[in-house]
Amino acid sequence: MAGTGIRTRFAPSPTGPLHLGHAYAAAVAHHLARAAGGEFLLRIEDIDHSRARRAWEDWLGLHWDGAVMRQSDRAPAYRAALQQLWDNGLLYPCTCNRRDIEAAASAPQEGVPHFGPDGLIYPGTCRHKPRPAAMPMDLPLRLDMERAAIATCFVEQDRHVYTSVQDYITGVGDIILSRRGMGTSYHLSVVVDDAEQEITLVTRGADLFDATAIHVLLQHLLDLPTPAYHHHDLIRDESGKRLAKRDDARAIAAYRAEGATPAQVFAMIGITPSAA
Ligand code: GLU
Ligand code: ZN
Repeated sequence: MAGTGIRTRFAPSPTGPLHLGHAYAAAVAHHLARAAGGEFLLRIEDIDHSRARRAWEDWLGLHWDGAVMRQSDRAPAYRAALQQLWDNGLLYPCTCNRRDIEAAASAPQEGVPHFGPDGLIYPGTCRHKPRPAAMPMDLPLRLDMERAAIATCFVEQDRHVYTSVQDYITGVGDIILSRRGMGTSYHLSVVVDDAEQEITLVTRGADLFDATAIHVLLQHLLDLPTPAYHHHDLIRDESGKRLAKRDDARAIAAYRAEGATPAQVFAMIGITPSAA
């Protein structure tokens, strides 16, 4: 490991064309690692095989260290992490569909439906059903947030929105950690992979600020180290709208096809070639 031991990563999800927002995220991670004499790693977050497109990997002229990690190769590691949580009584299978959840969450006794980082907070319908002895892999698995938050007695004073056990229970709720047919979720895989790649500084968009609180909780539950987190601004278009994956107009591939160099692509988002 080089220099200071700082390790950052660029972890794009190849669900659409690489756009300027990706370029910015990559540049931040790359720059912070290089400026500190550390390492910059690449991880392709292609857990959703159905949408992954390898052709998307059109690089930006940045050089990364070591082997590329692909989430599609990591199913056994995710399964082991789920098993650890299951063995500690922290997961339960959920058979609700979206309509069931919406109906239960808007039942009169529940008051107004609450939203957390993953959308509508799960009303807990399946939480109290008898749990099978062996972990079922054919059903979505949810984190029992009450047990999880109490198990860690986790209070993060300075850095995160959710600062108490109660905030995790009511503000995040029983999130899905394993999706049907996928064997993992974004939250679980990112935590397992950051630990495996020994990432010490996670740089990510400010849109993931609330998700970071979930990741820190999962690190405690799985006995994994917590890296430092830096949340950066999002790249927006002229009207202030966040660039979306579907915004093909701003796809880097299009700029490159028109002859733009990587340095010119970075210049569009205010990054000079030396910083990139
Ligand atoms: N793969 C995620 C994305 O492209 C970001 C990774 C992370 O910072 O956790 O939005
Ligand atoms: Zn359910």
